Amino acid sequence: MSLTVLGAGTPYPRPDNACSGYLLRTEENAVWVDAGPGSLANLQRHVSPDQLTAIWISHLHADHFADLASAYYALAFSELRPQRRIPVYGPVGWGGRLEAFLTNSQVAAMSAVFDEHELHDGHQIDLGDLSLTSRAVHHGGIPAFGLRAEHNGRVLAYSGDTGPCAALDELATGADVLLCEADSDDPTEVHCTPEDAGGAARRGGAKRLLITHVGPAMTPEAAAERAAKVFGGRTAAVSDNDLYELR
Ligand SMILES: [Zn+2]
Repeated sequence: MSLTVLGAGTPYPRPDNACSGYLLRTEENAVWVDAGPGSLANLQRHVSPDQLTAIWISHLHADHFADLASAYYALAFSELRPQRRIPVYGPVGWGGRLEAFLTNSQVAAMSAVFDEHELHDGHQIDLGDLSLTSRAVHHGGIPAFGLRAEHNGRVLAYSGDTGPCAALDELATGADVLLCEADSDDPTEVHCTPEDAGGAARRGGAKRLLITHVGPAMTPEAAAERAAKVFGGRTAAVSDNDLYELR
């Protein structure tokens, strides 16, 4: 299984620093995890959007979701029209939110390119050689999910956006990689600090910690340094188009 970073930035995309997006690949799958603005452009460096086997959205904040509208345009109105509908998994109401962005005639075409699914806590997706488990996390009271991806005994855990919570610790348990947000400089229930990310990795016994979604009050490098002090293990801040192999 490999993880390609399509965007690690927030709250808005900058040149070479798109918002939240990741690509998970196995022999049989290419799954786009979070569709932050700018991540669709980076995705195309690695896979054609019509070749995606699934799209998974953690929550409906624009910095994780807005490029789904761009993906709809790519799939519905270009040469990329997919052979089969692409399954999209997201929080309750994601389809309606996207529809609200589109005109009436476009809404009618949405079901031709996207196969709509809604997530719940403990939701399981079986994609052949890849299984995805979604866990409800704490992010300011809106429906939000973290992800645990398993392939051939390897585990990638992704926080989505969350404050420190039991579900985040459970996602991190025994993970080969914990990809964790560290948006906040100071403790809050809405986002993790670098220390919160390091603590989740330590308690879960994760083998490696990757820091992402670092807020404007810190540099990613400083956030990774702070997280590493608490985690005590291998830690790095990710950048767009970084590739990590989980073997
Ligand atoms: Zn958010």
